[in-house]
Amino acid sequence: MPEIQAVLAANEKVSREMLRANADQIDQTRQFPRENLSALGKSGVLGLLAPKQFGGAGAGLAEMSQVIEVQSQNCASTAMVTLMHFCATAVIAAKASDALKQELLPAIARGEHLSTLAFSEAGSGGHFYAPVSEVRRNGSQKKLSAQKSFVTSAGEADSYVVSARKAGAAGPTESDLYLVLKGTSGFTAQGRFEGLGLAGNASAPMTLADVTIDDKTRLGPEGTGFQTMLEVVLPHFQIGVASVSTGIATAAFQTITARVGARKYEHAGGVALASIPRVQFLVAEMAIEQDSARAYLGETIRRALGGDPAAMLYVLGVKVKAADACLNVVSRAMTLGGGWAFGRRGGLERMFRDAQAAAVMAPASDVLKDFVGKACLGLPLF
Ligand SMILES: Cc1cc2nc3c(=O)[nH]c(=O)nc-3n(C[C@H](O)[C@H](O)[C@H](O)COP(=O)(O)OP(=O)(O)OC[C@H]3O[C@@H](n4cnc5c(N)ncnc54)[C@H](O)[C@@H]3O)c2cc1C
Repeated sequence: MPEIQAVLAANEKVSREMLRANADQIDQTRQFPRENLSALGKSGVLGLLAPKQFGGAGAGLAEMSQVIEVQSQNCASTAMVTLMHFCATAVIAAKASDALKQELLPAIARGEHLSTLAFSEAGSGGHFYAPVSEVRRNGSQKKLSAQKSFVTSAGEADSYVVSARKAGAAGPTESDLYLVLKGTSGFTAQGRFEGLGLAGNASAPMTLADVTIDDKTRLGPEGTGFQTMLEVVLPHFQIGVASVSTGIATAAFQTITARVGARKYEHAGGVALASIPRVQFLVAEMAIEQDSARAYLGETIRRALGGDPAAMLYVLGVKVKAADACLNVVSRAMTLGGGWAFGRRGGLERMFRDAQAAAVMAPASDVLKDFVGKACLGLPLF
């Protein structure tokens, strides 16, 4: 059973060596980061959240955030694939039957099984907690037909945590989560989504056409899917996406400060870009932005782990704060990088594109602000 510190060190090493070296090629070819994932799997990183009794590291939100941030500093596509795998692992560990845990978690701990979430549907868009698809009873069997609009690792993952309304539900929040294995009859991925950024994460729509599901693969008691989304998925996803944004912002900041320090103007007697007060002002704004986002992230994790009743407000806000800060940092970095940054050199242009995903990934920043505003005013969220 791997020690958490050893897993964190392995993640650091694989990220700095392999993820960094592969990042541009993954971005340009849109190839799924299989080599990176294989190395992360072998070094115990993909088993980070699997409980110790199943051979995993048994880590929690703080270590997850650390792993995702380090990966994002090097390859955000790989980090997003890892994050969705962590979200699915957390649901399996918390809600699967003993038999299903025994079937999946040791393989996850060994890095031999990749999972993900298949929640989003065109009918509810960024309101990921509200599937419009519904489980149908067919005699003693249950069937599910659904069109999932974006799934990270679509067709690449070995299993999918799928949401649907429970059979006969009165509304979208009466939902269930099911574990569907790759290769299940009727469950297929359709091409690529070809997103602006995170080009290697194999986001694509997936169709479930009359897929047979059963109680053994349901994750939690019938009708508790919505609760699991709020209690298990939301903290992992929100903190994880915030960590992706923080990682991209850190990488952009390091890249541009190195560039600004090195850029000199011959026509002005070798004056450095770094010596211009306006440039220093922009760098200061970037430093303050990223440090405040990191502080918000740390506070969110501290409250979530401590069981603070106000933790949910922070969990809702953390992705917004980190996404905004990251966009601000990366935009300023693009300005200061000039033609060098615009022309793909140094990786800033990739970071700029990768940074855009966090604000639209469900719940979108605008939807989260809607929730936070309602919560602050004592209004019901749903
Ligand atoms: C890179 C990437 C990876 C993804 N991976 C996965 C995955 O693995 N699994 C998965 O299930 N999904 C995934 N998604 C899907 C994602 O989580 C969202 O469902 C999707 O991005 C929402 O898209 P939409 O166009 O339907 O949004 P829409 O619902 O059409 O929303 C568009 C915009 O409308 C505004 N809006 C909508 N409702 C409100 C409101 N109530 N208040 C204020 N403003 C509002 C917001 O500005 C929002 O951005 C991924 C998406 C991306 C971009």
